[in-house]
Amino acid sequence: MKARWLGLAGYAVFGTASAQPSAATLPFVLKPIGPGVYAAIDGPEHKAGSNAGFVIGDDGVLVVDSFFNLEAARALVGEIHRLTPKPIRYVVNTHYHADHTGGDQALREAGATIIAHKNVRGWVRTNNINLFGDRITAELRAAITALPLPDVTTDKDLTVWLGSRKIVVRTVLGHTGGDLTVFVPDAKVLFTGDMLWRKIPPNLIDGSVKEWAASDAAFAAMPGAPRLTYVPGHGDVANVSDVRDFRAYLLDLQKLVGEGRKSGLKEDALAQFVAPRLKALHPDWTISDRAIGFEVKYMDQELAGTKKRPVPTAE
Ligand SMILES: [Zn+2]
Repeated sequence: MKARWLGLAGYAVFGTASAQPSAATLPFVLKPIGPGVYAAIDGPEHKAGSNAGFVIGDDGVLVVDSFFNLEAARALVGEIHRLTPKPIRYVVNTHYHADHTGGDQALREAGATIIAHKNVRGWVRTNNINLFGDRITAELRAAITALPLPDVTTDKDLTVWLGSRKIVVRTVLGHTGGDLTVFVPDAKVLFTGDMLWRKIPPNLIDGSVKEWAASDAAFAAMPGAPRLTYVPGHGDVANVSDVRDFRAYLLDLQKLVGEGRKSGLKEDALAQFVAPRLKALHPDWTISDRAIGFEVKYMDQELAGTKKRPVPTAE
């Protein structure tokens, strides 16, 4: 399950339709987390590639993220139609990564307007190719370059009304440079996208740990935080302790890489210094050596001031 670390399923990539799965074979687990609010948590086989969710309002449905492939997104549409006759009006992409946008076309075909940070429009068909590195295939490249572009883009917070139901979409810093969260005040639910991972090392390829840790501190300091439900981009439904735990993980990584750098360690030697210490500090996390290798490399670049992050494109 090496591809797991990227939060990317290694198969069923953007695939075409197959038979509608039964509840037992859904690629995600649907969890009610508030009145008309559901988290769709990637199943144990990681066929959905990431988490998603949705909110049923008075006059329609808003979906958060679309998984990595069309099968999973179509299964989500099927579940929504099973639960409510109301139309699917919006999908909010929390960021451009393909494991959260790969199923957008299925949502669009179901009637959704795609809302995203304004930088997503410039990145979704191009930077997603970089995301796969040497794992890119011709099929995947073709699928990425055909991804739908968002219909509504923003670099500011915005409020979406589903009748009288208020949903607050906020811009946040840390994971990619084009990140949104979705807050449902009446249900006390925050969909964080990949600003939060639960007990799984995050993908730092486009990130700034400095900004990211600050954003997670703000999530944990939200009014009524002990009673909030947080839906992470990867891992199970979370609470404020998980948010603090994730932030601590980021800061531990930053500290350990900083210590190794001070001792003159580089590359593999730096990763070998960090790995056992980070695992010991977070014994209940699932941390592969491959994941640590990438995290140490990106953290080292951030501390050295050489980290490359996606650059906003002209509209
Ligand atoms: Zn992700």
